[in-house]
Amino acid sequence: MPSSTPDFLKTLTYPRPDLTSSILSTPPPHPAPRALLLPPPRLPRRPRHPPARAPPRHHPRPPLSALSPLLSTSSSTHALLLSDPLYRNLRAHAAHALHAYSATALGASITVAQLSKALCTESCAHCGEFGPFLWMLDCTRCCWACLTQHPDLLPVAPEEAMQLYGIPGERAAAGGLPVMRSVPGVYRTWKEVCVEPESRRFVSRAAARRVAVAVHGSAEKVEEYIAARAQKVQVVSDSKDMDVRRLLGVIAMPTLDRRAGRVEHGVSCKGCTSTLPVVALRGEGMPYMPVRIGSGLEGFDARKRELGRMFTTQGYLAHYQVCGRARELWEWEMEMNDEEEEEDEDEWDMEEVDRSSPFL
Ligand SMILES: [Zn+2]
Ligand SMILES: [Zn+2]
Repeated sequence: MPSSTPDFLKTLTYPRPDLTSSILSTPPPHPAPRALLLPPPRLPRRPRHPPARAPPRHHPRPPLSALSPLLSTSSSTHALLLSDPLYRNLRAHAAHALHAYSATALGASITVAQLSKALCTESCAHCGEFGPFLWMLDCTRCCWACLTQHPDLLPVAPEEAMQLYGIPGERAAAGGLPVMRSVPGVYRTWKEVCVEPESRRFVSRAAARRVAVAVHGSAEKVEEYIAARAQKVQVVSDSKDMDVRRLLGVIAMPTLDRRAGRVEHGVSCKGCTSTLPVVALRGEGMPYMPVRIGSGLEGFDARKRELGRMFTTQGYLAHYQVCGRARELWEWEMEMNDEEEEEDEDEWDMEEVDRSSPFL
């Protein structure tokens, strides 16, 4: 087992800028003050003079849209917000998410509490593995495999959802179906770079189904409606990991362990990712390493899941126990270190010999 966890992780894992640069990226317009990047200070347990304007505990937290104008301002309201530990955590660790919600016009549909819960969650809402991304329409975490494969993570146009699920326009407009406006820019699917020149409107299929259940009366009736219309209505096209729509409403999202005060962005396993000889795996990050995809559809999908898989530190330590190639790589690394140490010792011995040489 590793002698030092940082050395161990540095040797066997790497970050994934290739994935995070493929999706929506909206850095805050101004860098957050340094104080906000540090872990939030602990509040005294019993303040002598509680803030006069502190919100009551049962007060519902405002939607993010109410906060957006405050992200780069200083005001008494802002100071009040900063007294909220959930909001401070978001400012400190997920300021980019606040900005992304503002940029996609989704702020009104999400609350501080919802986004905070997502920040402090680790697992993908669809498969339970570590989910280093936030699917903004539902404010849920997802992993790369689910983002590019799960049917619910393909957003659709509002008109498409209304037609597919039989939702009348007035019901869609009455709320319950938040509409995202995508941010124009460059995105990358598995195969190609996609330039999105204009903003497009999307809704969540899961949210549309929820509204449809209210309209039709039950989930079974919604399914019956879809089945009856299947012949007449064009099925929503979905080219999975080659469909740029899947990438427009998702951001990288660190996970915050509030007890430990630890923030993690996730890493991938060098052992899983490559089929190169172990000797070629040595070195720093390798996001663009060539890979081999297994043969057959099943092998193909399984291999793609492996390639996009990411872990927290604890998750990786558990994965190491079952990853033969990672163990092989670590053992090879240890052998190399032993050889280097032996060489150093030999050099040192030679120096001693030289110093004692009568010819000096
Ligand atoms: Zn997943
Ligand atoms: Zn592995």
